[in-house]
Amino acid sequence: MNDYCVIGSGISGATISNLLNKKSLVHTYDKGRGPGGRASFKRVKGKVGFDHGTQYFSPKSKEFKRFVNKLIKKKFLKKWNGKHIYLNTKKKENKKHIKIIGKNGNNDICKYLLRDIKCFYQSEVKKINYKDKKWFLSFNDGKTRSYNSIILTCPFPQLRKLSKKFIKNPFIKKTLKMDANITVMIAIKKRKKSPSSFLFNDTILGWAGNENSKKRFKSKYDLWTLQSTFKWANKKIDYNKKDVKKNSKILIDKFFKLSKIKKTKIIYSINHGWKYSSNSNPFRIKSFWDPKIKLGVCADWFVGPRLESGWISANDLFKKISR
Ligand SMILES: Cc1cc2nc3c(=O)[nH]c(=O)nc-3n(C[C@H](O)[C@H](O)[C@H](O)COP(=O)(O)OP(=O)(O)OC[C@H]3O[C@@H](n4cnc5c(N)ncnc54)[C@H](O)[C@@H]3O)c2cc1C
Repeated sequence: MNDYCVIGSGISGATISNLLNKKSLVHTYDKGRGPGGRASFKRVKGKVGFDHGTQYFSPKSKEFKRFVNKLIKKKFLKKWNGKHIYLNTKKKENKKHIKIIGKNGNNDICKYLLRDIKCFYQSEVKKINYKDKKWFLSFNDGKTRSYNSIILTCPFPQLRKLSKKFIKNPFIKKTLKMDANITVMIAIKKRKKSPSSFLFNDTILGWAGNENSKKRFKSKYDLWTLQSTFKWANKKIDYNKKDVKKNSKILIDKFFKLSKIKKTKIIYSINHGWKYSSNSNPFRIKSFWDPKIKLGVCADWFVGPRLESGWISANDLFKKISR
């Protein structure tokens, strides 16, 4: 029987794991604490938490629409209704682009896809090696495991570091810049009524999402997820750990100023820096598969900057493997 190890439990890793698992043994590894990758849900208490990466997705391709509709029917996904305020003069809300979110968190889609897969979390792959037609993975805890086939789904800079010497395709030598994002999650005093989100026209603050408006839980506070612009985060990300308080304050002050929500006490705030958030210049190929050494790569950055891009890349890789 073929066996596969998949590195990453984001949408790309979860999708390819699910497809391969129908005929092969699959083990999925992620350095994070749970599934979702850049579509993770930051749990604070019970069901209460924040979507701190992907805010929502609006399916564009026919195939992804079909898949999403199936999960809406199964009650894993739902529409995010409410008032979405576009303060950005260049962009207007397209009512045809429905906003889809997970029922309990935006990693629900990955949880669904991985429901029958053996997953190992907090397992960082430090090194991979190919010897005698086998892949050897070395982990952060010093252990090693071997598989016939390997699939990598990491952000491009991390992929290159791990697998450069095994990939002969020219894509691995290209420069692909991935933008950063600084996200601050805040709890503030409850107001009577608030919109579901704001899209700002600002150089520092890009977006604010109202977690309570997703109707997943009841919280005594108003919870907001604030996401910076790429341009600002690219300049700040390397020092964000050191400058957590300063950067959080800048984004919070901007939020009150731009949203015109009355400034109030911050009950708590959590800062998360994404060094590799997304890229806007995709490659020409949608995925990569080397049948000789049984190494595959799928990830959003092959196709585009959105969650759907990872799903498309994983389906493309599966077709290549199945040929
Ligand atoms: C702040 C932010 C906001 C976003 N907003 C939206 C949005 O509103 N709508 C939308 O459609 N998209 C959005 N995106 C983009 C979307 O999140 C991504 O396109 C998508 O989640 C990428 O999925 P992926 O599986 O390709 O990669 P990832 O989700 O990054 O998955 C890769 C996984 O590999 C793991 N990994 C990496 N290296 C190793 C290693 N050595 N060992 C073990 N595990 C490893 C990582 O922990 C990660 O879980 C946003 C992204 C960010 C960061």
